[in-house]
Amino acid sequence: MMKSFPIGLALFLVFAAGLQADESRWFKGNTHTHSLWSDGNDFPDMIADWYKQQGYDFLVLSDHNTLSTGERWMKVADVEKRKRALGVPVLRKYVARFGEEWVETRGEGELREVRLKTLAEIRPKFEEPGKFLMIEGEEITDSYKGAQIHMNAINVSKAIAPQHGDSIQATMRNNLRAVMAQEAETGRPILPHLNHPNFQWSLTAVDIAEVLEERFVEIYNGHPGINHLGDATRPGDEMIFDIANTLRLTRLKSEPLYCVATDDSHTYHGGDVSPGRGWVMVRAASLKADDLIAAMRAGDFYASSGVTLKDLRFDEGELTIEIAPDGDATYETRFIGTLASEPENFGKVLSTQSGLSATYALSGDELYVRATITSSLGHGNPSYAGQKRQAWTQPVAWKKAAP
Ligand SMILES: [Zn+2]
Ligand SMILES: [Zn+2]
Repeated sequence: MMKSFPIGLALFLVFAAGLQADESRWFKGNTHTHSLWSDGNDFPDMIADWYKQQGYDFLVLSDHNTLSTGERWMKVADVEKRKRALGVPVLRKYVARFGEEWVETRGEGELREVRLKTLAEIRPKFEEPGKFLMIEGEEITDSYKGAQIHMNAINVSKAIAPQHGDSIQATMRNNLRAVMAQEAETGRPILPHLNHPNFQWSLTAVDIAEVLEERFVEIYNGHPGINHLGDATRPGDEMIFDIANTLRLTRLKSEPLYCVATDDSHTYHGGDVSPGRGWVMVRAASLKADDLIAAMRAGDFYASSGVTLKDLRFDEGELTIEIAPDGDATYETRFIGTLASEPENFGKVLSTQSGLSATYALSGDELYVRATITSSLGHGNPSYAGQKRQAWTQPVAWKKAAP
């Protein structure tokens, strides 16, 4: 066999492997997902199955103040209550999908219980190298005098209890420091992102700007109750992002935040808080947690609710967007930034372009520039009325303002 192995093919394989090793590709992932481990209404393995079947490359289960570890039994009656009157037999669906062998129950009647699988048990069932990855996560769920302060910690290895604090900002900072302490202790990178600032109108752009330990924030979250668009007197998530970044680059002389889009899914049998609404596309060397986190820290990713980019480049003073076509959809790309000469004009639309590609050439006055791309197609599973499919890129050209 060895003798007859063609040398040409061998060289080609070596060459192809070399190409593979250098070539980054885009990976699709949801970093904000709830299950029966906290207040979601389906089993974590059912949820992993859904995301994998939808073509996601990675999934972070992020329950409130808990990891999917340890022995946990739940009353079947309580599981069924979670379906929120949607009339779906949750346990029967679970058994139909994975079989009696996999599903563990004990007791009878009212006392019958089902065991929630741990992430360690679920992983081998779904993970495939380069194809599907599950990352341990937690939504550290804290509050200060009624303000909801939630942040996801991605790639944690031990649950982090809410740290509390004597102000909103101190609470944010204390939780971020606990994340950083675990990272230092374990040597394993953990990426925290701040969630839904407008949930119960909890966090302002100033809070988000001033806590410099924070590097990532949700610009879109698929939960319909998070006031994504703001209201008559309060800015929406996108404007919060622009205000916070302008404050960082002017007053605080600090790096801007990067934005993520997430599902924050809770309901998996239909209903309001369903999955598939928002995600990130990360351009990484491989589908490994370390590489994905490194790429996100470097800003090499974008947030999406339904627009896919073929390419995204920032070089030689130009930001270039190439959009992947989708049927007969048309696209509008808005380049958004704040100019050093008008720092009070947060998140100004600097240019609007249509078509599958768009380019913005810097004038030199920008504190930063980013892009929001909007499709003519409505979102298939909207979290607010009239929602269109969108993508949001990270701020670039800010190094002059925050060297
Ligand atoms: Zn939350
Ligand atoms: Zn959540």
